[in-house]
Amino acid sequence: TEPLLQVRGVKTHFPVRGGVLGRVRGTVKAVDGVSFDVVRGETLGLVGESGCGKSTLGRTLLRLLDPTEGSIRFEGQELTGLSQRQLRPLRRRMQLIFQDPYASLNPRMTVRDIIGEPFAIHALAQGREREERVLALLDLMGLPRDAMERYPHEFSGGQRQRIGIARSIAMKPDLVIADEPISALDVSIQAQIVNLLVDLQRELKLTYVFIAHDLKIVEYISTRVAVMYLGKIVELASAADLYRQPRHPYTQALLSAVPVPDPERKKARIILQGDVPSPLSPPPGCAFHPRCPYAFERCRRETPPLYALGNGHTAACFLVEKDAQAPAETPASGG
Ligand code: SF4
Ligand code: MG
Repeated sequence: TEPLLQVRGVKTHFPVRGGVLGRVRGTVKAVDGVSFDVVRGETLGLVGESGCGKSTLGRTLLRLLDPTEGSIRFEGQELTGLSQRQLRPLRRRMQLIFQDPYASLNPRMTVRDIIGEPFAIHALAQGREREERVLALLDLMGLPRDAMERYPHEFSGGQRQRIGIARSIAMKPDLVIADEPISALDVSIQAQIVNLLVDLQRELKLTYVFIAHDLKIVEYISTRVAVMYLGKIVELASAADLYRQPRHPYTQALLSAVPVPDPERKKARIILQGDVPSPLSPPPGCAFHPRCPYAFERCRRETPPLYALGNGHTAACFLVEKDAQAPAETPASGG
C-alpha cells in the first residue's frame, strides 16, 4: 500500500547573512538529504539533539518551510511545487502540535475561539454547530466545559497543551507532526499527554511524526524511530529493533546516556563528547566522526551511505557495511 507520506532527498538549507551589508556568509544545511516513508496509522519517532534539524524537517514536511531540494508526496501528491493557495485544502489534513503550548496560543483569545478557529478558517461549522464541535473536543481532551469562556493563562501547562492539541486535531487530520509536545511540561504531566495522544490516534486514526530530543520519550509511542544527526537520518528501524539492537554509534550513545533497567541494552556505554558541531560548517566525511569513539581514517574522508540491514533497518556507519544487503539511499518503509 502507498505510504501516507513519501519523503525523498529533502534538503532545507538557509543562507546565513552577516555584517553591516547583510551579505550571505554561508549556508546552514539544517536538513541535508533525508528520505523515508510515513506509513498510515504509525507513529514515526524522530529523534536527535537540539540543532540536528528535526524541527526544520517537521516544518518542511508540512510545507511551513520550503525545501531547497527533494520530493514530498502526501498520498502520492507532490507538495513541493504547490502554492500556499493550492496547499490550503490539504492544510486541514496535516497539522502541527507545538512544543510550547503557551507561546502557540493567542493570550487574547478565549478557548472557544482558539479551538473554534480551524472551523472558522475552513468555513466549516457555524454558530450552534461549531459550539457543539468545540464542546465535544473539550470532552475528548478531558477539559472542563466551562473552559470555553476562559483564556490560556488561566490553565496549567498540561491543560494548555490539551487546548493546543484540540485545535490541531479539530479537523480530524490524517497526519499530525508533534514537535516535542511534552518537552515543556512537568514530568508528572508528560505521561498523561502521551496517553492522550495514543488514545486520540486510536480514535481518530491519526498518523504521527513524533519529534523528541531523547529516545526514552518516544520509546513507548513509536512504531518506528528515525535518529537524526546534523541534518541527516543516521539510523531508522522499527522501535523494537532500534532499542534492542541499535547499530549506529550515535544511537548507541543516546541510548547509553539513558539509565535503563534492562542489562541487555547496556552493551555499549558511550559518553558523547562535546556538542553537535555547527551545521554551518559540518565536519567532512561522517559528520559524527569528531564525537565517535570508533572513528577511523575512512570516516574523515568519506560519508557513509545508509546501509540496509534487513527488516527496514538502515544505518549510516561504515561499521555495519559488512552486514549490509545493499546501500539503501531510499530506505524501505518497513513497519
Ligand atoms: Fe563512527 Fe565512522 Fe561509523 Fe561515523 S562511520 S559513526 S565516525 S565509525
Ligand atoms: Mg526543535
